[in-house]
Amino acid sequence: MYLILLGAPGAGKGTQAKLIADDLGVAHVSSGDLFRENIKNNTPLGLEAKGYMNRGELVPDATVISMIMSHLGTDACRRGALLDGFPRTIAQAEALDAALYSGFDSGIQKVIYIKVETEELLNRLSGRWICPTCGSSYHEVKNPPKVAGLCDVESTALYQREDDKRSTAENRLQVYFNQTMPLIEFYAAQNLLVEINGQQEVEDVKVDIMEVLTPLAGERSKPLVA
Ligand code: AMP
Repeated sequence: MYLILLGAPGAGKGTQAKLIADDLGVAHVSSGDLFRENIKNNTPLGLEAKGYMNRGELVPDATVISMIMSHLGTDACRRGALLDGFPRTIAQAEALDAALYSGFDSGIQKVIYIKVETEELLNRLSGRWICPTCGSSYHEVKNPPKVAGLCDVESTALYQREDDKRSTAENRLQVYFNQTMPLIEFYAAQNLLVEINGQQEVEDVKVDIMEVLTPLAGERSKPLVA
């Protein structure tokens, strides 16, 4: 099963993906996390991506496409994937379609579009703090940690992503409007898109998403012959 979480930076794609991927029995594949891991490990891919990411720009299509395609071919993704942050351009979506139909004998089952207003997105991004150990995400006003600056789970010092600082966050949103929003039409035209209100409590967003996706997971687990 291949699913896409679509939405602006700060819409809650990563938060939701972490909550639902296990329930659906698929791997959570985040292009941003893969890049950040490469940057941490100083790989050539990480070095290439770093400048684009710090400026809030998109990494070139060819680089992202090849990274995601090789990841989808790994054992971790053999039962399918919940894609978070990919595709972000029409060219990436077309490459994904082509690869899924040829190499994986399957297409995208559903695209969940998590919709959040622009002002709210900026507030979320610029107030976001993250645990370097477990990846838990906090907001300095709406979801502060129990002890200021420390992760509730790991007690590690939280950090702010370089690209969440306000001027870079504004740039990321502009890039999203120009390059990623056309995907909403692209997937709506294929009857794959379901819009979810992302301005609710995290748990309520999850319930709305699972209402759409649980029947798909059920279909997959039914025996092929009666
Ligand atoms: P994210 O964690 O999804 O917000 O991604 C962080 C950054 O990684 C983005 O601002 C881009 O610079 C880069 N990135 C992640 N996914 C993609 C993608 N599908 N295409 C191009 N760049 C990406």
